[in-house]
Amino acid sequence: MIIDLNSAQNSSVRKQYDVCICGTGPAGITVARVLAKQGKKVALFEGGDLEYSEISQSCYDGESIGVQYWDAVRTARLRFFGGTSNHWAGRCAYFDEVDFEQRHYFGLPGWPITRADVFQHFDAACSILDISKDAFQASHKSKWKGNNFRFSESTLSPPTRFGTKYYSEFKESSKIDVYINANLTNISLNDNHDAATSFEVRNYSNQKFFFQARKYVIALGSIENARLLLNCDKQVNTGIGNQNDMVGRCFMEHFNVNFGRFISDDSPIWQHGGIQLNPSEDLIRKMQIGNAVLSFDINSTPASYGRLRVLKQTIRESICKSDSLTDISRNFVDFDCPGDGIISSLIEQTPNPDSRVFLGAEKDMFGLRRVKLDWKINAADNKTIRTLGIEAAKEMARIGLSRVQLADFILDESIDIREYGLHAHQMGTTRMSEDPKYGVVDKNLRIHGFKNIFVAGSSVFPTGGGTNPTLTVVMLSERLGHHLADEH
Ligand SMILES: Cc1cc2nc3c(=O)[nH]c(=O)nc-3n(C[C@H](O)[C@H](O)[C@H](O)COP(=O)(O)OP(=O)(O)OC[C@H]3O[C@@H](n4cnc5c(N)ncnc54)[C@H](O)[C@@H]3O)c2cc1C
Repeated sequence: MIIDLNSAQNSSVRKQYDVCICGTGPAGITVARVLAKQGKKVALFEGGDLEYSEISQSCYDGESIGVQYWDAVRTARLRFFGGTSNHWAGRCAYFDEVDFEQRHYFGLPGWPITRADVFQHFDAACSILDISKDAFQASHKSKWKGNNFRFSESTLSPPTRFGTKYYSEFKESSKIDVYINANLTNISLNDNHDAATSFEVRNYSNQKFFFQARKYVIALGSIENARLLLNCDKQVNTGIGNQNDMVGRCFMEHFNVNFGRFISDDSPIWQHGGIQLNPSEDLIRKMQIGNAVLSFDINSTPASYGRLRVLKQTIRESICKSDSLTDISRNFVDFDCPGDGIISSLIEQTPNPDSRVFLGAEKDMFGLRRVKLDWKINAADNKTIRTLGIEAAKEMARIGLSRVQLADFILDESIDIREYGLHAHQMGTTRMSEDPKYGVVDKNLRIHGFKNIFVAGSSVFPTGGGTNPTLTVVMLSERLGHHLADEH
């Protein structure tokens, strides 16, 4: 059933459930469906409407005070039914074994669970994301000839829009009640302050409803999971789960640094426009760096038009025959010869406690303090970026596939890295750790110190891996759903 809390009467709304879940993005919807299939009665809350509304989206307003990137706080996430899946791009890939290892050089513990724990839910996640488990393909069919890199494997979801896909299922469901225009504004606690007793949820008339359950899950996205927990400071003044000052810390993104350009040879590898490489797991361990995908994409050769077309083409071809003339031309214009390309990237960020989400003084319409995002990049991140650039160029030269011209800031550490780019993959603000000193949730995604409050989404990632996060978010959410259904 789908219920609009804007028009619901307090007296007519059911208030008791097995599990209350807030957030209808990939994480919240996945947990809810697993529980419903196991016979649990679930309330699923969505702050927005079925479609985009400015009143809901404005609750995401906040301030970005650290390294700036494309409106990270407001528009890199969507606040309506289906969440940010309403504009995700659908690239799916999986974390490597090395991503789950304890990489001590990161300075914080890594994942407290294994890759196998997560991958138990691979088939289910593929079906949810409308991808075939056999569709993960390397970016080229041949075997990579070098030792330090390998072709990266990925596939594309249509992309699945979770709200659209599951609307009818929820409408017909006798197990899941979806409440829209239902904003979670507080989690009430028992007298011992070690368990939740209700979700306080408000509609846009600011009318309060209280929903009770045995277990509670927040799945609000990385920035908002931290914001909500920090705002729940009426009964515990640090905010829920923040007894060790870890909520909001270790905010991570994936960098998209432009490493420079390359000139391809005539190998058939380049026929389809480009390749994507991952560093080998050995290289990551040996150099003590993060994981990544490096994309070598061939530019399309600019077409010439008009009466001077033939002359322009002849000049371009002549310049391209000479390395020195090509270099001179590049000093003046963005000059491409056939087979030239650029190297872009998706690079893992170090979990860094100083890179964080915290609360500002300004409040939203429900009285919740707005976020400040202080995205920080440290020396270890710069080391990962520069090492990968240099090692990729060396590998290309070794196997003779292309000549790489690295950006000056890769080779010269005295020059600042020009832009860190973005992928809108927000992670890490309620990290998973067995030791509460280094994280907010345990390996079952239960908030340390609280019996029945759980967190879903990429905010629980202890490290961010070198690939897109949503497949892993969905696998972890499946795992959480089964844990909640099985646990007494
Ligand atoms: C432009 C873009 C492209 C992307 N492309 C890719 C890609 O190719 N591959 C990939 O793996 N990932 C991609 N991502 C990331 C992907 O979208 C996220 O990983 C995914 O949406 C996270 O799911 P989630 O459920 O944790 O959070 P969200 O999808 O953000 O869902 C959070 C939900 O919580 C609700 N909510 C928030 N606060 C409240 C509240 N107080 N009360 C009630 N409800 C609330 C929101 O309305 C929303 O429904 C992309 C992201 C962006 C922005």
